[in-house]
Amino acid sequence: MALKGKTALVTGSTSGIGLGIATALARAGANIVMNGFGDHEGPKAQITAHGVRAEYHGADMSKPAEIEAMMKFAAEKFGGVDVLVNNAGIQHVAPIESFPPERWDAIIAINLSSAFHTTRLAIPYMREKNWGRIINIASAHGLVASKEKSAYVAAKHGIVGLTKVTALELATTGVTANAICPGWVLTPLVQKQIDARAASENISVEQATKELLGEKEPSLQFTTPEQLGGLALFFCTPAADNVRGQAWAHDGGWTAQ
Ligand code: NAD
Repeated sequence: MALKGKTALVTGSTSGIGLGIATALARAGANIVMNGFGDHEGPKAQITAHGVRAEYHGADMSKPAEIEAMMKFAAEKFGGVDVLVNNAGIQHVAPIESFPPERWDAIIAINLSSAFHTTRLAIPYMREKNWGRIINIASAHGLVASKEKSAYVAAKHGIVGLTKVTALELATTGVTANAICPGWVLTPLVQKQIDARAASENISVEQATKELLGEKEPSLQFTTPEQLGGLALFFCTPAADNVRGQAWAHDGGWTAQ
């Protein structure tokens, strides 16, 4: 119960990777502030099954005023946020010349700017406690690019940069900031891309899944939300006290190529 008495806020924790990380932190004893769209009662039950408290706030991560309200809500409910996981994210796939400008703005707002806002609002409490963990969910696309993902790749490279600056500004404190860079994880965000590929190439979903993995991920295996939960938890242990500003790949060899 390494995190007993601590509070973790995980953005986008109603689904996929965010839910996997929130569950791992709850298993280690942390109370959880949940966020994200869609059903939250089912995910909340998955978290409270570990004997911790969970509170949900439905802030839209593209809206700074709602992010401020969520951070206030966390302070009112739990006193403050000890572990901040910036995870909420969306994707849009299209060549630059036909990329809808409003999708660009939304991806930059949700996948990048939201982390600036939560981080600036979380730091004062973490500094006061001289302990904190900021974990940014970047991507293999924070380290290398793929075509037709201009906004996503720009936002993910951006969040790796933000992680480094955050780590440097806090380097003499007990607050660390690191990024996790997953390869393919089979969540709704990726299932959509697999289904689009199957439809456009007129192949089965199984074949599209094989091709997707084969193209980028040498292990030919998905990384799982549970594995990413384990890595996030590692960043919260004393073993990681001096791990600062890293972009840690969990990508089946994608970025080793
Ligand atoms: P997902 O679609 O399963 O979950 C995304 C979560 O973000 C959901 O809870 C959703 O409700 C929430 N969300 C979306 N827009 C939001 C908004 N405006 N405000 C608040 N919450 C919002 O996707 P996922 O695959 O679990 O992705 C989580 C993160 O991991 C994203 O940042 C994504 O870029 C990153 N990532 C995913 C993969 C992958 O292969 N799935 C790989 C690398 C990085």
